[in-house]
Amino acid sequence: MKSTWNGQFSCFNLVAKTDECSRSVVRVRDLEIGGNDFVVMAGPCAVESEHQLLETAEAVAKAGARILRGGAYKPRSSPYAFQGLGLAGLKILAKAREATGLAIVTEVMSPEDVAVIAEYADLMQVGTRSMENYALLEALGQCDRPVLLKRGMSATLEDFLRSAQVIAQAGNPQIILCERGIRTFETATRNTLDIAAVPVLKTVSHLPVIVDPSHAAGVRCLVPVLSRAAAVVGGDGLLVEVHPAPEQALSDGNQSLNFREFRDMMEDLQPYLALQQKTRQLRPQLLAVGGAD
Ligand code: PEP
Ligand code: MN
Repeated sequence: MKSTWNGQFSCFNLVAKTDECSRSVVRVRDLEIGGNDFVVMAGPCAVESEHQLLETAEAVAKAGARILRGGAYKPRSSPYAFQGLGLAGLKILAKAREATGLAIVTEVMSPEDVAVIAEYADLMQVGTRSMENYALLEALGQCDRPVLLKRGMSATLEDFLRSAQVIAQAGNPQIILCERGIRTFETATRNTLDIAAVPVLKTVSHLPVIVDPSHAAGVRCLVPVLSRAAAVVGGDGLLVEVHPAPEQALSDGNQSLNFREFRDMMEDLQPYLALQQKTRQLRPQLLAVGGAD
């Protein structure tokens, strides 16, 4: 089967689906992403202190998250905003892994930081602002850690898959795609969650796809419902911001859930995950080759 979408673009060969059933499973420690489990990654936008991170790690693990997120190197829109704790933040993340058994995902912003972050992280996050940083993508291609590649906020799906191809071509096939919302004319939400991106990506590519409802929504009240949508359309997992006291967070407090809200969200997700298991047995989307009807 050809991985052409709607006569518009062909998926890049290393990340393209070669037949209807092919899909890659990316291993992060003992977890499999893209297999049968729906893997939830949760934690604060930024690592702020040891106390904040450990408390969050314990709460999200208890609620069913399997991977702890937390930025140590933060790409901020303003140069005056909190830039992250850097190496000290990585050390705190490693402590939280030791305490809870959660795997760690954290962002890498520059090729020079790849080696040090790979010493601490189980999964290397490429943020929306870095999706087209080819020097970074190539450095990650030579690294033996799996990569969580976030979609650029103004990137088409073809652009997104091109960046995945760059990492794969440089030698690292362990890539997870993350839809995190794109810029549109709509201002009611921080970004517009492109929910159709999930089935399109899963139709043309064999890579796992997860959804970040937090950066898409920009407001916490939408995070649970967007998470349910991600499960129903066939997402392989979530990346969700959680903070012990969102109103005091140094970054992205408006879109962060508190512990109770996260626990409730995880509980409410269960029937939708059961539905996802059922919909996986339905006929797969047919690839539209050569133009839409
Ligand atoms: C993040 O996940 O911390 C982040 C900065 O997200 P994005 O790159 O999608 O804005
Ligand atoms: Mn954030």
